Amino acid sequence: MDPEEFRRAGHAVVDWIADYWATLGQRPVTSQDPPGALAAALPAGPTADGEPVEAVLADLDALVAPRLTHWQHPGFFGYFPANTSGPSVLGDLVSAGLGVQGMLWATGPACTELETVLLDWLAGLLDLPERFRSTGRGGGVIQDSASSATLVATLGALHRAGGGRWREAGIDRRYRAYTSTQGHSSIEKAARIAGLGSDGVRMVEVDPETLAMRPEALREAIRADLAAGDVPAIVVATIGTTSTTAVDPLPEIGEICAEYGVWLHVDAAYAGAAAVCPELRWSHAGLEYADSYCFDPHKWLLTGFDCDAFWVADRGELIEALTVLPEYLRNAATESGAVIDYRDWQVPLGRRFRALKLWFVLRWYGVEGLRAHVRAGVALAGRFADRVRADDRFVLAGPHPFSLVCFRLAAGDEASAELLSRVNATGRVFLTHTRVGGRYTLRLVVGSPLTTQSHVDEAWALVSEAAGTVLSDAG
Ligand SMILES: *Cc1c(COP(=O)(O)O)cnc(C)c1O
Repeated sequence: MDPEEFRRAGHAVVDWIADYWATLGQRPVTSQDPPGALAAALPAGPTADGEPVEAVLADLDALVAPRLTHWQHPGFFGYFPANTSGPSVLGDLVSAGLGVQGMLWATGPACTELETVLLDWLAGLLDLPERFRSTGRGGGVIQDSASSATLVATLGALHRAGGGRWREAGIDRRYRAYTSTQGHSSIEKAARIAGLGSDGVRMVEVDPETLAMRPEALREAIRADLAAGDVPAIVVATIGTTSTTAVDPLPEIGEICAEYGVWLHVDAAYAGAAAVCPELRWSHAGLEYADSYCFDPHKWLLTGFDCDAFWVADRGELIEALTVLPEYLRNAATESGAVIDYRDWQVPLGRRFRALKLWFVLRWYGVEGLRAHVRAGVALAGRFADRVRADDRFVLAGPHPFSLVCFRLAAGDEASAELLSRVNATGRVFLTHTRVGGRYTLRLVVGSPLTTQSHVDEAWALVSEAAGTVLSDAG
């Protein structure tokens, strides 16, 4: 494909994406096909001779798109959003076209420097503590996901807790990680990969009302482990848990971590984006205690997957934990100590130019544009919650500080599960569920930039109508 052929085919692909977005609201949000439908429709292998891009686009339309869950659909209210945007896609396209490998500063100086500066911008945008800025001892890096950020934080914590012994000899003592019972599954996975095992993770009790970690329970768990000769290495606190967006009390947790010298990692994968709005920064109180922090611009900040922003307060510790320098990567810039080599801040060696999509997003929307996006989500979720609150067939399952609303039918678990299945079967909206205090609970999260008031009102109309049929069928 020469540059002229690329230009022509590229325009066709951009047109395809623009048409997809423009007509997305008319599609069913999820596919109703059984497993294996796409696999059965595909040929046994590639054609012997090449085909034009138009042939691929035709199959995208006929075979692939109908079998997707449409995450950018205005009626997508499931999980957490994984939103994207025009500027993000264009920035990613440039990154793909450049094909730069940014493992070392020397292998793409601008790739590293843009990322460092943008993570400082982002730290300013969220008003994160000064200690995370690259102008001091800290700094930020883009990871593929919050899961990777937690793994890397765990490795940094093990290095601190075990010193050279961990780095050279691996796990030789009983290291422990702590999170609440509401902590994300990626914390246990990181513990397994890092060699602590699932048993190395202490699931700390939460307050039954707020579902936030109980600091006294954390202290008791750390004390018990110390008494048993174990080594508390890392506490992972959450701002905005996945199930209900509970916010762990960082000021108290931070005090405890400081007292026992334990690494505090703060996982704000979804809710971190809220901190672009000054009125939502209460959720980040106490963050000055954290040794590391991450959030996913790829969830709620209009930047396509993958883009997790991860900061450490002391980059030296992280680099010491992860650096391995073979002869073939040696270069004058690295030896000088004057540059950042991001390969030492992550698990893989190679890395693509992800800062570009973030740069396109920050420049296109500006600070006020990003705030408007978050505020719209919070307001629309509030509007939906008001409808739920005003209807006595429903129970609002706790506060909704961000853009997630948790609710259930007062009639019980079976009715609530049936409600979800009927609402999703309409194909107009997609909601997911969780359990809160053991009770089956529906989750509605607003996050797609295409979602407007009319979509949220339609979601409520569908929920309300389906509740009527569920309750009358029940009896
Ligand atoms: C979504 C989520 C994660 C995992 O995010 P990835 O970036 O997909 O790894 C981790 N923690 C919390 C609280 C989340 O909501």
